[in-house]
Amino acid sequence: MPKIIVAIDGYSSCGKSTTAKQVAKQLNYAYIDTGAMYRAVTLFFIQNHISASNPKEVQKALHDIHISFRRDKIKGTNDTYLNGLNVENEIRKMYVSEQVSTVSAVAEVRHALVAQQQRMGKTRGIVMDGRDIGTVVFPQAELKIFMTADPIIRAQRRQAELLEKGELIGLQEIAENLKMRDHIDTTRTESPLRQADDAIYIDNSLMTLDEQVEMVVRLADEQIGLVLRGRETE
Ligand code: C5P
Repeated sequence: MPKIIVAIDGYSSCGKSTTAKQVAKQLNYAYIDTGAMYRAVTLFFIQNHISASNPKEVQKALHDIHISFRRDKIKGTNDTYLNGLNVENEIRKMYVSEQVSTVSAVAEVRHALVAQQQRMGKTRGIVMDGRDIGTVVFPQAELKIFMTADPIIRAQRRQAELLEKGELIGLQEIAENLKMRDHIDTTRTESPLRQADDAIYIDNSLMTLDEQVEMVVRLADEQIGLVLRGRETE
């Protein structure tokens, strides 16, 4: 079977990662959470007092940052590691969410992470989610999805996710953080969040997770079929 690239972009907390993870599992593909990479860089900046507006400090920091993903065989999760340390829980905390869009808007940060993401996708057979996957990282991806959901529903989902990890945050604070991140993500100069011309738009406000996953897997199967038929007629 030919392997394709599935690119899922969209606003914060619209269920991209949950969907992408399940889709990757069903297709037996690797899953890459690019938001986790931007969060890991942000955590490093916070811990080491790096100013995102100081290009020299940023360049030096980027040399010292090594991000990887490792499978936790017991929990069955794919955890984010920063310089050899498991930071999966830490990067999801609110103090990181508050800074991540500012750090992600820095051109040097984006260049370094996009290059790493493109290396990760060299062998295809991946589902990658983020903000610029279909537009910048893999403009040649066979399947591009642009996902969104109602802002209130997104805030409620995020609140439940944080609560599950033991962080109780008010809905208003979460909604404001999402709004602020959407604003920075869509208006930054460097690869802003936007729907690729050939992306399929999915509003999942009223969809269950199973329905979303089924829809994306069906679209992926169609693309795999197209690639296969294209190869046969070559
Ligand atoms: O996906 P998640 O909400 O964890 O991403 C955190 C932040 O990382 C986003 O709000 C955005 O600022 C940034 N991001 C990005 N480009 C990506 C993925 C995430 O700028 N490809």
